Amino acid sequence: MRRLVLCLFLACAALSAQPGDYDLLLRNGRIVDGTGSPWYRGDVAIAGDTIVKIAPAITQPAARTIDVGGMVVAPGFIDIHTHARRGIFQVPTADNYVRQGVTTIVEGPDGSSPLPLRPFFEKLAATKITPNFASFIGQGSIRTAVVGEANRQATPDELEKMRRMVREGMEDGAFGLSSGLFYVPGTFTPTAEVVDLAREAGRMGGIYISHMRDEARGVVDSVRETIAIGEQAGLPTQVTHHKIIGKMYWGKSIETLKLIDEARARGVDATIDAYPYTASSTSITAALLPAWAQEGGRQELMKRLDNPDTREKIKAESAALIRNERGGGDPRNVVAASCRFDPSLAGKNLAEITAKRGLSVTIENAAETAMWMVMEGGCQGIFHAISEEDLQRILVHPATMIGSDGEVAVFGENVPHPRSYGTFVRVLGRYVRELKLLPLETAVQKMSAFPAQRLGLPDRGVLKQGLKADIAIFDPARVADTATFEKPHSYAAGVSTVIINGEVVFDKGAMTAARPGRVIYGPARKEQR
Ligand SMILES: [Zn+2]
Repeated sequence: MRRLVLCLFLACAALSAQPGDYDLLLRNGRIVDGTGSPWYRGDVAIAGDTIVKIAPAITQPAARTIDVGGMVVAPGFIDIHTHARRGIFQVPTADNYVRQGVTTIVEGPDGSSPLPLRPFFEKLAATKITPNFASFIGQGSIRTAVVGEANRQATPDELEKMRRMVREGMEDGAFGLSSGLFYVPGTFTPTAEVVDLAREAGRMGGIYISHMRDEARGVVDSVRETIAIGEQAGLPTQVTHHKIIGKMYWGKSIETLKLIDEARARGVDATIDAYPYTASSTSITAALLPAWAQEGGRQELMKRLDNPDTREKIKAESAALIRNERGGGDPRNVVAASCRFDPSLAGKNLAEITAKRGLSVTIENAAETAMWMVMEGGCQGIFHAISEEDLQRILVHPATMIGSDGEVAVFGENVPHPRSYGTFVRVLGRYVRELKLLPLETAVQKMSAFPAQRLGLPDRGVLKQGLKADIAIFDPARVADTATFEKPHSYAAGVSTVIINGEVVFDKGAMTAARPGRVIYGPARKEQR
């Protein structure tokens, strides 16, 4: 209601705007408004943090005018899946995102969020950041706090406690519940327990978003589970970073997308997000060691790796994961992104690291090396095990939006997945312009109006009078990713200007001093800001 009143007020303010009232005027734009409608030519006037007028030609003067010279003027992109809390305090300007036109980043995916959320939001609000910032509350973080990393059912008391923590997370401002059922302790969580917690989030206006239990052999069943959780708990449900891992399972996206279509046809609000790369990134431990070996936490894992019997079992299962799943069938398809115990390993593949340790390069020896890396302290890895066909099929599906699964990068540090620098511009450059896989307007809609609708942001994601002025301006003939797996620290090309809450944060190839980013709170937080 308050938002409605605010919008009415802003609309009135727009109607009464006098010459010179505008703070910023964007002239000669090719407006791609986010709704998916064909682009049209127009000017955009901004006052304060709000779009106050869009018209074919606005002639009144403004404090500042930018002639965009026929470039695309689009809503700023909303990234629904990021691990931005790792870097936002180190790099509050989030250059790698903003330079792509991303104006809002969402944390807390994969079941992992700050807990509790309120102090995290307070710290964030006290930090001057450039992009807007939102978060989910994580099922895994909650279960770890209440049950630990044990493979067992929660007691009724524990379940009640977890329900309460979901409610608190929503009251603190989460946009819903995320899960990472692939990870510990998500993998130990029965579906019914997730349904129970998701129902709490749904009652308070939240959504459910899941890194599924299995993205390889069990991917079809995992999509079924994700749909069932939304259906039984009565809330929107989203398969996050949807992909098919492992050559043996390539092509399964035909089945998974059919399940999504069928669910939607019977009224289940099931959606997807995806990034445009054929490699994923997570820890070597989660990707290449079986979950049972991780039960109870790192100490227990180390004990199992020290015990000859369990070590052999772990090694056999790790070899199978390298052969059929995230290892992509070849140790060269696994690359270290960062290893705290030895930063020099970043960028080297598992075959090279195995050889460096004096072992012949076999899948069994690669499993030995993976276990060694885990024992030394663990590494983040990149896993080339996704097919281009599945990627494209998922990307063009109408229920798919774009999300990076990336992080706020510290420029030059480690050899991370290029998705943090390139996701959005790669879709616009490679998949829209070069491969003509989807129209520009559709791609922009998947990056702006669609995620805004999914989160329930009524005032962002579309270029329209009365909405917040989050805007990305780019050259459709030049927009591209330049970050590669070998050299990921490379900014987007072809984006000329980025505006957040009415302030120019990036222009003519450089970040400005403005840091207008806001913490955006979910539907159940009483005081909005
Ligand atoms: Zn994930």
